[in-house]
Amino acid sequence: MPHASGPTPPGPHDFDAVVVGAGFAGMAMLHRLRGLGLSVRVLEAAEDVGGAWFWNRYPGARCDVESIQYSFRFSDELQQDWTWSERYASQPELLRYAQHVADRFDMRKDISFGRRVTSATYDERALLWSVTTDDDAMLTARYCIMAAGCLSCPSRPEIEGLQSFAGDIYQTSAWPRDGVDLAGKRIGLIGTGSSGVQATPQLAAQGGRLTVFQRSAAYAVPDHNRGFNAGELDEVKRNYKTLRAHWWNTPRGMDLHPSGISALEVDAAERERMYEEYWARGGVAFQGVFNDVAVNPEANDTINAFFRKKIREVVKDPATAEKLTPKHRFSTKRLCVGSGYYEAFNKPNVDLVDLRENPIARIMPDGVETAKSFIPLDVLVFATGFDAMTGTLLRIDVRGRGGCRLSETWAEGPATYLGIGMAGFPNLFVVAGPGSPSVLANVITAIEQHALWIGDLVAHMEKNRIVAAEPTEAAQAEWRRQCDKSAAHLLLVKGNSWYMGSNIPGKPRVFMPFYGFSDYTAICENVQAAGYEGFVFREAGAKAGHAAAGVRPRRVDA
Ligand code: FAD
Ligand code: NAP
Repeated sequence: MPHASGPTPPGPHDFDAVVVGAGFAGMAMLHRLRGLGLSVRVLEAAEDVGGAWFWNRYPGARCDVESIQYSFRFSDELQQDWTWSERYASQPELLRYAQHVADRFDMRKDISFGRRVTSATYDERALLWSVTTDDDAMLTARYCIMAAGCLSCPSRPEIEGLQSFAGDIYQTSAWPRDGVDLAGKRIGLIGTGSSGVQATPQLAAQGGRLTVFQRSAAYAVPDHNRGFNAGELDEVKRNYKTLRAHWWNTPRGMDLHPSGISALEVDAAERERMYEEYWARGGVAFQGVFNDVAVNPEANDTINAFFRKKIREVVKDPATAEKLTPKHRFSTKRLCVGSGYYEAFNKPNVDLVDLRENPIARIMPDGVETAKSFIPLDVLVFATGFDAMTGTLLRIDVRGRGGCRLSETWAEGPATYLGIGMAGFPNLFVVAGPGSPSVLANVITAIEQHALWIGDLVAHMEKNRIVAAEPTEAAQAEWRRQCDKSAAHLLLVKGNSWYMGSNIPGKPRVFMPFYGFSDYTAICENVQAAGYEGFVFREAGAKAGHAAAGVRPRRVDA
């Protein structure tokens, strides 16, 4: 349990806004709301800012959206002063960046660290959110902003015998702050998603033995990480305004260098040349190679074949290469990006266990027993992902009007309007949560768009003496349809991934984000221009009790 520090929130009344989380989303919201002249308190479970980059300190952790894009644009001074050292910044550098932002904008004075929010309850009469934390602090605020992260609730599978393991157990998403000495250890790594792919070469380099337990093979593209050439960053800084505007208007909020052509409209030789070109470019921009590989099964087959070939070229043992070749379609899970992932399996100290043919039977005190063998281990590393998008919010006891519980209203999957508001939960706004393009975009860009939009909504409310805003049930239901429609053409919705909730046993199968950042921003602009269509507003002076007291919420037109 981290030690609680920072200013103590005052007693029961208190701030105009409370923000849960001090990752990039929480910091962006703090900056925006303070800019409106509101008093804001941020509550953060960790001991510092940074969110994902505070917690995910596993060896090899780095962003896979280019640093120059995976950064804030809200302050030109910030982006001019900050100098990235690598094309894809490592976790320590990303954490330093977050700390720099916090210091530069004097954010820490408004953040309470080491406080995990356990409940948020709306008082209809007082028109206030009451927020409590795990150290029994309580504060009230008119607005409650959930900036608690879409990938911030670690998931660790229950495996028979896990409790009996006598060695050390680590999770990539809760890596010890001061690092771990793994030199010479026999390490078992479970999970080969983005985290496992980044960690594998680093764990293999520790000198001991590494066994990778793989359930689904990864599509892993090299990042070709590097420093910047002389003058390269200066050029970016000179053109940041234009570049940011361009990225803002793309479907993913970042530049994937889309070719704009179909994999099926070129001959095999040209297709191969383009795959090689995008492979050489590296990173998530590999997805820009053809416009139909994520949509059309026939086009998709060509990219699967390319990966099969690539893996065989790199991995010397044909049986290992075959196991490492994904059996699911490209783009039905998130693309992984790493450095030396497939190459690691050529090392004599690295083993691969394909769990589909050789499942874990149980964990023993000194290792893992699979259906076919026993693997002695000193350390177990879980890279098994997150209860994504909804997990973190559902761990907070959120109660809205009439005591309605978020856990109940979301029982069949998340229900939001624009991913921002929820019917029954006035003045509760979510940043980069379900129903938003967040995780299918450059998340920082998506966060900034939300911070701006929510800030505008709050400014509108303040100006017009509106004390409560929440979406209608109808707008929310329509948004569910829009989210489904946004992705209906994608193979992603046919596969099993955390975007669909498939990685968590019992979680409803729902496509949780919205696909298409630029489409989404256009919708948000239209909603705003139409006087926040889909929201109901309640003015100051109206009797407390909302519908129960006969108050008819009215929509305020612009
Ligand atoms: P987070 O960074 O998750 O921050 C949420 C904060 O809320 C955390 O600090 C958490 O402690 C706090 N919190 C949660 N619940 C509570 C509570 N109840 N009480 C108090 N505090 C709470 N996205 C990209 O676009 N590009 C990338 O390259 C990329 N790489 C990633 C790599 C990793 C390893 C991971 C895990 C994610 C990555 N992401 C990436 C997605 C990443 O989640 C976002 O980019 C971004 O960091 C999200 O910021 P956030 O502030 O919304 O959430
Ligand atoms: P993840 O993508 O969900 O991967 C989890 C891995 O664990 C998968 O290989 C999964 O297999 C496996 N797994 C889960 N339960 C298991 C079980 N019971 N037994 C065996 N294997 C099991 O999680 P992640 O790697 O932490 O990444 C999550 C997201 O965070 C990414 O998609 C990305 O958005 C972000 N991220 C980004 C980067 C980056 O490069 N910048 C790095 C890390 C994370 P199945 O696939 O079969 O379920």
